Order: sequence, then C-alpha cells, then structure tokens
Amino acid sequence: MIILSLLEITKTYSKSKEFAVNKVSFDVEEGEILALVGESGSGKTTLLRLIAGLEHPDAGYIILSGQKIVEGNLSVPAHERKIGMVFQDYALFPHLTILENVKFGLKYVQGDREKIAKETLKLVGLKEDFSKYPHQLSGGQQQRVALARAIAPNPKVLLLDEPFSNLDAMLKDQVREEIRQIIKRSGVTAIFVTHDTRDALSTADRIAILHKGYLQQIDVPQVLYERPENPYVANFFGKMNQIIGVPTVEGFYTPFGFMKDDRAKDFKNRVRILFRPEHALIKKSHDQYLNGKLFKVAYFGDHQIVKLADEDGKRISIKTQPNKKFNPSDRVFFTLKEFLLEEAY
Ligand code: ADP
Ligand code: MG
Repeated sequence: MIILSLLEITKTYSKSKEFAVNKVSFDVEEGEILALVGESGSGKTTLLRLIAGLEHPDAGYIILSGQKIVEGNLSVPAHERKIGMVFQDYALFPHLTILENVKFGLKYVQGDREKIAKETLKLVGLKEDFSKYPHQLSGGQQQRVALARAIAPNPKVLLLDEPFSNLDAMLKDQVREEIRQIIKRSGVTAIFVTHDTRDALSTADRIAILHKGYLQQIDVPQVLYERPENPYVANFFGKMNQIIGVPTVEGFYTPFGFMKDDRAKDFKNRVRILFRPEHALIKKSHDQYLNGKLFKVAYFGDHQIVKLADEDGKRISIKTQPNKKFNPSDRVFFTLKEFLLEEAY
C-alpha cells in the first residue's frame, strides 16, 4: 500500500534562480526504506524538509495516508503530519536525560508516555541507565536515542538526514545493519538521505537518485546498479568503462576489436558501449573476443584491476580474480557479460 506520494514537487529558494527540486514525483510503500541519494546540492535535504513541512513547495502536491497535506496554499503544519525526523547532528536536548528526550517526542501523544518511551528505548537496543545525559553516551548510542525519540510517537513516516555521516568507517557497517533492523522491527516507513552509495545499496529497499533537483531513477538497488537508465546513474554507482562502437549488421567495430551483437542493426550512428569493470570477463586468446594491450595490473587482495589500452592509448579497467598472472606486454582477451548501449552522435 502506498503511504506517501509526491506529485511534481517543485521548489526554488527565493534568493536563488536555480531549482532546488524540480517536478519530483514518487510513491513510497508502507514499511519500506527508501534512500534519497545524490551529490551535495542535488536537493536531498530540501525534499526531506518539504515532506516534513519545514518548507513549502512552489508547485505540486503531497499525499500522506490518502490525505492531501500539501497543495497550493494548503499546508498541514509540521507537527500535525505525524512525521518523525532524525537530524544529522541528532539534535538531542543536552539538559534532558535520555528518557526525558524520548518523552519530549511524545508530547502530542495520549497514553502512558513513560512506558512508551522506555519500550522504545529498549526497541532501539539501549540497555543503558535511562537517567544518563546525552554527553555521557557514545555517538552511536546518541543516534539510537534520536531514533527512539522519532519512532516513539509511531509516526507514519520517519525521515533521516545523513544518519551515517558522523560515524567512522569501522562503525558504519555495523550501525547501518542495526538501524535497518530497528526500522524494520518497528515497522515504520523510512526515508533516509545519504551521499554515500554504499549506505544506500546496503540499507535501502529502494533508492531514488537526484541530480540538480531532478529525479533520475527510482528502483531497487540491483536494478539501479545493473540497469541504470542513464550514464549519470551508471557512473554514480561506480566506475563505468566507455568505448565507442561503430554499428554494422552483425555487431560493433570498437578500438578493442569487433563485438558481435544483434542490437547493432538498430543503430545508425556510433554508440557508446558502457560496462562495469566486473562485467568484462578475461578469456583465453580467440579471434572472436575483444582484446587490448596490458597497461597495468593493480592487486587488491581479493581482486585485481587490469588496465588495458587500445591503439590510441585509451584505457579500460577490468576486475578479475586475484590469482591470475599477467606479463607486461600481454595482449588480453575479454568478452562483455553485460553492457549498456547509448547513441553517441
Ligand atoms: P543536498 O541536501 O542534496 O545537499 P539541498 O537540498 O541542501 O541539497 O540544496 C539544494 C539546492 O538548494 C542547492 O543548490 C542549495 O544551494 C540550495 N539551497 C538549499 N537551502 C537553501 C536556502 N535555505 N536558501 C537558498 N538556497 C538553498
Ligand atoms: Mg543535505
């Protein structure tokens, strides 16, 4: 069931000529974790603030659980939206204990606030003394308190801005998994912002990618990584090699040799053949395969990156097993397991 819909949401800040967010539309399913990714300035925080009710769009509307909360001049106030927010710096009240911090989040909620607060603190895995103050906790624990404070009122949607950016790399892998489990256990629908593709790929059910205020693609991580709709999305999720192909009836002439492919007959102009380093497979010498001159091999323990050059010195990278041996002037043969074709003009 869809819990949140954005329809053609557009926002320009008054001081700026450029759109912060431009005609962005997407739906969020109940219980899912959606990651909003994009470079700095792509409009991620603006989008969260528009959903939370901290900003109002110039156009478009927002529907939350079947109710229009934003349209034209209509704007349901932030505190009436039943949306929880976890800020990047956690924004805990330093003079309140962790229990009081969570109870503060419950001020519009009926019922036994003390009991709800304690249960939520347990849900996020805090076994600490609840009378401690935020400064007595580690960063990871403070984040759990912030999460408990936002989840306790049972929000319809939970918004998290860069939840992993204050954690060091060692902690990050662990915390990502814990936060995902807490969110799933509580059943809340969550949208989190990140500029780190690894956060998004490992934590989200679906990912929406923004570029200069435009939504580029929204889908499950595997599809974004393996079937990106455009080169921007493809490059955002890791290195893409690019070679030029000239179509004939049977395939493409490339600087790395001829590549048989049925799709070639559908193209009149030159194409860009885009592929990831792990989608090229090194093969034994054969005249049907593509090939390039070995330029460099870099060893990474669990894999190697082999760089090949064409006649003009243009390079591509191939990821391969760590135990393959190469000689300096080798000609390396390869095929492409997966690739994208794009008209080059
Ligand atoms: P992100 O979170 O992806 O880094 P933001 O949503 O913060 O991006 O910003 C999107 C664009 O809007 C940027 O060009 C930014 O400079 C601009 N912007 C953000 N907040 C304001 C503001 N309060 N006033 C003017 N421009 C802003
Ligand atoms: Mg931001």
